[in-house]
Amino acid sequence: MQAGWEGIARDLLEGTGCDDPSVDAFELAACCDLEVRAKSGPASIVGDVIRVDMRTRRTRQHGQVAHELGHWALARAGCDDSEEGAIYVASALLLPRAHFNASLRATWDIPELMRRHPNAGAGTIARRICAMRGTIASVWDHHRAPLLLGRRRHHAPESWEAGLVTIVRETGRAYADETARAWLLPERPWRRVVVVREAA
Ligand SMILES: [Zn+2]
Repeated sequence: MQAGWEGIARDLLEGTGCDDPSVDAFELAACCDLEVRAKSGPASIVGDVIRVDMRTRRTRQHGQVAHELGHWALARAGCDDSEEGAIYVASALLLPRAHFNASLRATWDIPELMRRHPNAGAGTIARRICAMRGTIASVWDHHRAPLLLGRRRHHAPESWEAGLVTIVRETGRAYADETARAWLLPERPWRRVVVVREAA
């Protein structure tokens, strides 16, 4: 399934020539003759019009446009349309495999990866690391259950992960050992922490 989604994203990037390392989802939509308009509330695609909330932070807008492009690309390729598929294609569009592979050979540091790929948010980057390196990840915002990423989608966060998140928030410093890394991210106002770890 993932190989098919990967191919759909690659074909779209190559077909439009919009495969510059920092893929711009708005440009990509324009290359596909899709119009992007502002709306409030959840993003959508109807016909050839994508609607997204333009008041959110820029990486989120790129993520939402890429997600709707994902639905569009799945349908165009004659694939089953699914949330999982659109989410996968969106991250593969914003972080093209070859370029992101080269980045990951240099660093797994999420803030540094965000500088290299400025249109991708931390969650999209963590998701892509999981897809390409077989890790699992969790995204922690205040007052919400963590969002779990990676192949073992129904894994529960380990109790030590919550402790690690507290330490990273208190010290403001990234954490790394042999099996887990964690970063505090400047995605206000959440004091978001992302943990990437080996799948046990
Ligand atoms: Zn969707």
